[in-house]
Amino acid sequence: MSKLALHKIVAKIRYFNYINAIDMRKSIEIEYEEYSSINELSNENRELLLQAMSAANDSYSPYSQFKVGAAVKLIDGKIVTGNNQENMAYPSGLCAERVAMFAAMAQNPNTGINAIAIVGKNKEGQWCAASPCGACRQVMGEYEKHGKKKITIILYADNDKIIILKGVDSILPFQFSM
Ligand SMILES: [Zn+2]
Repeated sequence: MSKLALHKIVAKIRYFNYINAIDMRKSIEIEYEEYSSINELSNENRELLLQAMSAANDSYSPYSQFKVGAAVKLIDGKIVTGNNQENMAYPSGLCAERVAMFAAMAQNPNTGINAIAIVGKNKEGQWCAASPCGACRQVMGEYEKHGKKKITIILYADNDKIIILKGVDSILPFQFSM
């Protein structure tokens, strides 16, 4: 086969895949609510966020000095809080969200999570966004399946805004499951 003929075959295959990719293209839309301040939230959501703020103040974060607080509301209404726990052997610490979710589910294995509020506090002592890391999203997704109810995710965002999302799919599409 000449060099020219080989080049033609490769080009043909690419063209075929290109057509297929267009036919199969899909998109995901994420819907969320945005509030301009904590005062605009419902009493229930505000209370949960305030509990997350209170938990953040007790964070053990001497290394990053970035405090994170999480408050988990269980389906039965109980609230369990957590904050980031750091360690001088860095990977030994844990995020606020997982501290809160693991404690909540360890103490209440037969229920599920209804909502979680997450907030950060920077070195300057200002409230700020602390969007959950991938590992915490994965854990949240599994507890959502366990509880058979979409989790409401309340995130403190930049400029003191509050973002509310419904369901872990909206922050972790295509999550791992077996
Ligand atoms: Zn995390």
